[in-house]
Amino acid sequence: MGFSVPLGEDISVRFVPPRGRAELRLACAAVKPGRQPAACRGAFRVLVKTGPEQGEHCVFSRASRGGVWEEAVVDLSPFAGRQIELVLQSDSPETEALAYWATPTVISGRGRRPNVLLISIDSLRADHLGCCGYPRDTSPTLDSLATAGCLFGKAIAQSSWTLPSHTSIFTSLYLSSHGVNSPHDALTPDATTLAETLREAGYLTGAIITGGPLLPVYGLNQGFDYYDATCFTDMFDDVRDPCTHARAVGWLDRYGESPFFLFVHYWDVHHSYIPPPPYDEMFDPGYEGPVDGRHILKLIPSNLPPRDLEHLVALYDGEIAHTDRYVGLLLRELKSRGLSDKTLVIVTSDHGDELLEHGGTGHGHTVYQELIHVPLIWIDPYSHPCKDPVDYIVQTIDIAPSVLDRLDLPVPPSMEGTSFLGYVRGLHQQARPAFSEAATSDHRYAVVTERAKLIASAYRQFRGYDLAADPGEQNPVAPEKLTQGSQLDEALTTYFRSPGRDVVTLEVRVVGGETPGDVRVSLTSLWIVDVLPNGLEPGDTLEVEQDSTRVTLALDCPAGDVDGVSLNLFSEETAIFLEPTFRHRPVSPQELTLGRGARPRERIPLKVRADDPDLEGPPTSLSPAPTGRPSVYVWVIKRGLAPTAGIELEEDFQKQLRALGYLN
Ligand SMILES: [Zn+2]
Repeated sequence: MGFSVPLGEDISVRFVPPRGRAELRLACAAVKPGRQPAACRGAFRVLVKTGPEQGEHCVFSRASRGGVWEEAVVDLSPFAGRQIELVLQSDSPETEALAYWATPTVISGRGRRPNVLLISIDSLRADHLGCCGYPRDTSPTLDSLATAGCLFGKAIAQSSWTLPSHTSIFTSLYLSSHGVNSPHDALTPDATTLAETLREAGYLTGAIITGGPLLPVYGLNQGFDYYDATCFTDMFDDVRDPCTHARAVGWLDRYGESPFFLFVHYWDVHHSYIPPPPYDEMFDPGYEGPVDGRHILKLIPSNLPPRDLEHLVALYDGEIAHTDRYVGLLLRELKSRGLSDKTLVIVTSDHGDELLEHGGTGHGHTVYQELIHVPLIWIDPYSHPCKDPVDYIVQTIDIAPSVLDRLDLPVPPSMEGTSFLGYVRGLHQQARPAFSEAATSDHRYAVVTERAKLIASAYRQFRGYDLAADPGEQNPVAPEKLTQGSQLDEALTTYFRSPGRDVVTLEVRVVGGETPGDVRVSLTSLWIVDVLPNGLEPGDTLEVEQDSTRVTLALDCPAGDVDGVSLNLFSEETAIFLEPTFRHRPVSPQELTLGRGARPRERIPLKVRADDPDLEGPPTSLSPAPTGRPSVYVWVIKRGLAPTAGIELEEDFQKQLRALGYLN
């Protein structure tokens, strides 16, 4: 079915797109009628009007040079269940031409959910890809994917090393929520992963993983029907792409018919940088110096002449080109099986790699852009490509909710990311800052917006960067000098204050004794984000100093009374100075209980760190001290999901992790 109208004349129809998946498919062409009708130039637009409040949205726009049908697939699911007016508009410089609109059809239903292929290329920096402006031809496949889909030009990974960053991708949780940050931590089975959610929705789920930090021992296999670690032999085997490819293709052969979610993890860009020929000489042929891409963590910046650094970068780029080729081969296999137009493809990375921009190599220890700015490409066969790269900040924790949003599946409430489909669909979306955390560093927390960045230590020391003027982060500025300085500080504080993600809460309770008297507890810590009184009555006071670094409780504590305060602290590394006094003299060690029952080992006032194991609580009971005077209890509760800590690793594997800088 189709119809034609004079070009310039609108056609409009009112209807309610069905809930769930709703797609408008049509074709259009401009034709000059006559004895011999001829195609001519025309411009076509499809508008969705949603009423005076939400206005109108252009969902399709195409200029035709004449000669062919222009085909449109328009995603109407953002408007599902709402009364809309669909307007077909045309225009042409030709006189008396007609606009032909062919077979406009709304397709709906759950049967149209695509497969999902999520590709993670380990250690891939965004700024070394052609589509992100890199001058070398490192990434022809990814560049063409960026054109065929949507490139997110400012995607931020939630950590700068493999294990926590992939944990964030799979769970849509920030590092301080999932807590997996050491090679001895595994994801708790209580977490909800993307694979689990998709499996519940009827997807067959598979993963081909190639890196040690993704081995099943780390718990990221949750929700996968198949979790294939065959290509991981040891951490020093630097060429795994051919194996990864063969396993992925084999998996598609066996399970490609089912609705599937396949995760493919490419390892080879990860150091060492030893690309196989011809990629080893691709970007710096004829080099005869000492750099061979091995042992990069042992390179000493001051001993590395610029010429050798150039070669190191060329080897890293060779690794990218090599892996890019394998991604291309996998996509070709997808196409040859007729799966390309049924599969949503997402390409990203867990972190980048340092190439001495800030004096180091490898990854994990800082949150500079070379480590946390990663590629993110979204290719939806049912949607039009984005006109331009998305210039707003998104996070890799947004991938899982976006996939679920795209598939009309509910996003588990635990997930902290936000769907970025609004950007894909060209609709307005609220911009949000991104957060990232390094494994260890003096300055390990980062908040990033489109223009600026704040890097913070656990001791409230900041480095600000104007990313627009100083994208390489070479000139730190005081946060107050940044246009968005105070918003960034506030965003970082809010990040730690979010429910379920308080890094650590310090609880203080005073239990009244038989001997009455004034009890004062003074706590000093550099970054107290929240203070909540607990059981205070008239006569008790809680004083918080203006800069929130010192809190003082003054209590009138009758026998049996329990009063106190809960403090949310910025980080478990935060030091706390604790000074409880009774009648203006320090309480005795028998009157102070730490954690489940420990006594202070040092003199009061005490200096403790929130991650001191002695502080881990809560206490088994709260009772007066044997002295008959009031007693003070102090303990720490960690919030968020507790990882399964202290997992056993084979000695040989630990050795490899150590050599690669993951373990000390
Ligand atoms: Zn990694």
